Amino acid sequence: MYDFIIIGAGMGGLTVGSLLAQVGKKVCLVEALKKPGGCAHSFKKGDFSFCASVHYLHIEGKENYLDELLKKLNLENEILLERLDPSACDVFSCPSQKLRFTLPNKTEKFYPKKHFRHFVQSMAHRIEHTAGCCVSYKTQISKVHISRGKIHSISTTDGREFSGKNFIVNMDAQKFSKMMGPHHFPKSFQEKLQYHYSTSAYSVYLGMEGINLSDYGFGKNLVWHSPHFDVRKVFHRGQKECDLKNPWFLMSTPSLYSASEDDSMCPKGACILQIVTTCRYELFANALRQGEDSYSHLKNLVLNSILDVVETFYIPNLRKHLKQITAGTPTTHARQ
Ligand SMILES: Cc1cc2nc3c(=O)[nH]c(=O)nc-3n(C[C@H](O)[C@H](O)[C@H](O)COP(=O)(O)OP(=O)(O)OC[C@H]3O[C@@H](n4cnc5c(N)ncnc54)[C@H](O)[C@@H]3O)c2cc1C
Repeated sequence: MYDFIIIGAGMGGLTVGSLLAQVGKKVCLVEALKKPGGCAHSFKKGDFSFCASVHYLHIEGKENYLDELLKKLNLENEILLERLDPSACDVFSCPSQKLRFTLPNKTEKFYPKKHFRHFVQSMAHRIEHTAGCCVSYKTQISKVHISRGKIHSISTTDGREFSGKNFIVNMDAQKFSKMMGPHHFPKSFQEKLQYHYSTSAYSVYLGMEGINLSDYGFGKNLVWHSPHFDVRKVFHRGQKECDLKNPWFLMSTPSLYSASEDDSMCPKGACILQIVTTCRYELFANALRQGEDSYSHLKNLVLNSILDVVETFYIPNLRKHLKQITAGTPTTHARQ
């Protein structure tokens, strides 16, 4: 019998799971997908390897909880963090109004020196290599069994059952509560479970060759592009009016942050540019419901409008250097 069954091997489940394994608890992580990381998983396209979500890790205040976590897991020499340029970490750029300046910085921003996948895998290995602990992939829980107000086991879509003394939920709490029956929770908690989902994201992953991004104003920093100085208006247009023809977006260049340490990100001399903007989940979910053609049309429309802006204002001939290009919509990012 496990001390803890943790549902979901996202960053949350991996963090709590590896900490519990480290102090001798018998832990079993059950994950619906075939690899760890959840939203922060990595994927390969040709010779390029991308992290699906993380552009930076930020630490606010004096307590460096990330250092503390890595020390507790004895991973401080394994997962080294590169600090992004403290004097110009976030650059605001509004080319239409010829504005480019460094934003005041209250937080420190970091990125792992090795690929983000290494960070995720190191935590998963901590659990897998501890006696009595395991991570079970391709294990989607679908039923919760309760007796006397306490969960005693969960069962999976393929008919397996996992029992434990304690259960920790890293999947969406709203979905889990529906599976379990919301009446099992106190009223005050049921109210908390009525939360609205946050805005979603549209991501672009570019693998490039024959170009040095440092020659185009990129470095160990993040460039926040806005089509207009009034960022609220821009955000509103994207969210409320679902206008993604000329969105704001963030550009990050992970291969410039950790180039010296890691060659698993892209081939030598190649580079990666990742771009993300926010948008509403329903926009893409509706297009998907209408069929593959509507969805692909919308996906390509947003992709091309972003690439056009990058090519116009930041990297002329961008498309000539592209070796890999892929985009993730809100429905791609959605986890289970
Ligand atoms: C596009 C994008 C960009 C982002 N950029 C950044 C950034 O730059 N910096 C940053 O710090 N954060 C960033 N984030 C946020 C960050 O990625 C997330 O906050 C974090 O990864 C969430 O981790 P989690 O463990 O809470 O949840 P998740 O990653 O959602 O993990 C939940 C896990 O539960 C599993 N699961 C769900 N249902 C079941 C089930 N029934 N049975 C078994 N398993 C199940 C899922 O497969 C998943 O692996 C970004 C997120 C997105 C989407």
